[in-house]
Amino acid sequence: MANVIAAIEALADIIIANKEKLTELDAAIGDADHGINMARGFEAVRVKLAATTTEDIGAVLKMVGMTLISTVGGASGPLYGTAFMRAAAIAQGQTVINNDTAAEMLRAAIGGIKDRGKAVRGEKTMLDALEPAYEAFTQGMAEGEALPECLELATAAAAAGIEYTKTIIATKGRASYLGERSIGHQDAGATSCYLMLSALTALA
Ligand code: ADP
Ligand code: MG
Ligand code: MG
Repeated sequence: MANVIAAIEALADIIIANKEKLTELDAAIGDADHGINMARGFEAVRVKLAATTTEDIGAVLKMVGMTLISTVGGASGPLYGTAFMRAAAIAQGQTVINNDTAAEMLRAAIGGIKDRGKAVRGEKTMLDALEPAYEAFTQGMAEGEALPECLELATAAAAAGIEYTKTIIATKGRASYLGERSIGHQDAGATSCYLMLSALTALA
């Protein structure tokens, strides 16, 4: 995996490139701002990244989390922000991430999203991409796969998670106001989550 700065740049690139797509998905069952929210956050991250010199992965992720919390807004800002802050705490003081640490970071991120959003899997949220991704990642590890392969497995699981969100009713977030009418649409947050995993996989 390239260094943490390159990794965060890749996250910013993929979110900003998919701003319209994410906003369209949110338009169908939400308020048409997920791409706008996330792109605003990652534009701010890009600006701060340009002035970042530390190689401490925890410090960089903490900056990302704090920036997302203060700039993204909506439901996804505090959720993704907390996820990055929790992952940052695990990576504090480290400049290289091994598989075990990466898995712990993912687990901590999921815990942060759950603490903050009070959602569980199956409610048509980002968790429907991230939790299966974590499970696939750890299963890859158990089978002795290296980081790139584990990330590939995680990304494939997140893609399947997106498909799953099309089949279920939203019970958290704005899409829950639509009840059964949310069926047939894929969740915007699950999609942004998949995109970020796929960007990391492409780097690994
Ligand atoms: P808002 O809904 O406030 O406009 P966004 O559009 O930026 O915020 O983000 C919406 C996404 O946030 C949803 O697609 C969903 O994945 C995620 N989300 C919403 N509420 C929750 C929650 N309680 N737990 C986890 N994820 C959530
Ligand atoms: Mg929205
Ligand atoms: Mg909104």
